This record gives sequence, structure tokens and C-alpha cells, in this order.
Amino acid sequence: MSTHSITWLNGQLLSTDQAVVPVNDHGLLYGDGVFEGIRFYRRRAFRLQRHLQRLRLSARAIALEIPLSTDELTAVIERLIDAFPDDDGYIRLMVTRGAGPLGLNPKNCSQPNVIAIADQLTMIYIDQQQAGARLMVSSVRRLPADGLDSRIKSLNYLNHILAKIEANHAGVDEAILLNAQGRVAEGTADNVFTVRNGRLLTPSCSEGALEGITRALVLELAQADGIETCEQPLGVYDLYAADECFLTGTGAELIPVASIDCRLLPSCPGPVFRRLQLAFQRTIAVECGGER
Ligand code: PMP
Repeated sequence: MSTHSITWLNGQLLSTDQAVVPVNDHGLLYGDGVFEGIRFYRRRAFRLQRHLQRLRLSARAIALEIPLSTDELTAVIERLIDAFPDDDGYIRLMVTRGAGPLGLNPKNCSQPNVIAIADQLTMIYIDQQQAGARLMVSSVRRLPADGLDSRIKSLNYLNHILAKIEANHAGVDEAILLNAQGRVAEGTADNVFTVRNGRLLTPSCSEGALEGITRALVLELAQADGIETCEQPLGVYDLYAADECFLTGTGAELIPVASIDCRLLPSCPGPVFRRLQLAFQRTIAVECGGER
């Protein structure tokens, strides 16, 4: 946490180290809650309404009622950005089940806690963003939809954390999780794309990926730029055989991939990545203002 991180907590704006929730919040006890990670540039939240809509859908999927309307949440985010010292930053917006008796039953939880933390976030070190990330395929699998649907952005990230621990141990930057069938799902906090013979490929979200907001934007930008796109199942071989590979996410933005399980990719950052990166930066400039 940086020293100037600030938090909006149930109506109060606080320094993050002063913001506290009860220890019996079921978000802490059981990971019972939902969240969004939102970037802002030039003091404007990027694609905010899409994030708020996904938050609402995640909450509905876990039968959690968000005590604030979308307009109220928008005002919270704007107020937080206004109070933050830097023009660019990252917000983690969370809704937890709230405080309740021990035992996982949510029915006696009093009131959901709404928390929004503004801070800086770097996913992978800047050097790696230039040189390209080194990936491994994790032994940890993404849960099937009848376990926990990957489209719910819940506070339960333990399998992603286990995959990240594996990546740390292997000395690489990021891990790719496969689904139960052994096909590519996504990274620990990012979606994955490959390029083969000029076509942009990514697994469909029913393969076990979050419906990434950056992913959707990259698909749109590619189509607008005349790049053929296809959402299709990908195996580990497809990662190894790719001409290019890259990761997308709010935190990650766009990160080119240099290697996967020690197989060097022929091109990093590749020509398709460069075009999309430029289009992505332009979109930020158009929607949030300013040159980047
Ligand atoms: N997958 C997972 C598991 C994530 O946590 C994230 C980050 N929100 C993403 C993908 C990327 O999604 P988005 O582009 O909406 O940030």
C-alpha cells in the first residue's frame, strides 16, 4: 500500500490504514463478497459503467444486494478519485456480505459493507512489460462453472493465488490456469490472447475465464482494425505454437508475453500486439482525455 492510499467505507472517506471492517465480516471469514478493479486515468474512471454492471451481476449471482444504486456507486468512485493525490490510479471496489455470526450461513449477516480503496497497482514489473512476461502453465485448474462460475468476480481467489505461488516458485511472472478439461482458461488476474497466422484468438468465457472488460475492448479494437478474431478453445500446444501471445486486464492493461514454459515466442512484442496497444492507448486518451 502506498502512503497516500485512501478508502471510502460506508460513506466515510479515510486514509486506508484507518479504514477498518469488523473481523466477523463474512468477506473476511469466507470470501463471501464480490469486487471490481477499476483504473482511472486523468482523474476519469475508465469504462466505469461496465465495471458497475459486472459488479451488479456478480452480486446477483451470489444473492447479495448492493445497498447503493449505480448512480450512488458512480458518485462514490468520482469522490474517491477527486480526493486521490495522483491523476492516475487504481480502485478496488468491494461489496462484502457484512458482519454476521460465525458459521457460513449468510442469512444473519446484518448489512453488506461497501468499500472502495484507491491506490497504485503494478501487476508485473515495468521491465517485464517492455521485455515481455514469462509465463508458465499452472498445475492449478480453474474451477468448473458448477463449482464457481468464472464469470462471478468473487472475493474467492485462492486457486489463482495458488497458481501465482507456483509462478513465483518457478521464477516466472505469471501463470496460466487451464480448465478441468485441460484447455486454456485465463491468467491469475488477466485474460489471454494468442495470434496465429494473423488471427487473434482467445478462449470463450465458457472455457473458464472472467468476462474481462479489457478483453472485450481488445476484441472490438481488433475488429475495427481489420484483424480477424476468433473465440475458440485453446490447448497448451496453441500457446506454444503461437506467433504472439499477450495478457489483458484492468490491472495488467496489455502485457506482451515473451515465453511460456521456457518456449520463447517468435515475436514479442509482436506486430498485432503493437497495433492493439496503440489502439488501446488511443481509447484511453479519447475516453479519459489527454495524451498518453
Ligand atoms: N481474469 C481474472 C481472474 C481477473 O481477476 C481479471 C481482472 N479483473 C481479468 C481476467 C481481467 O478482467 P478486466 O479486463 O475486466 O479487468
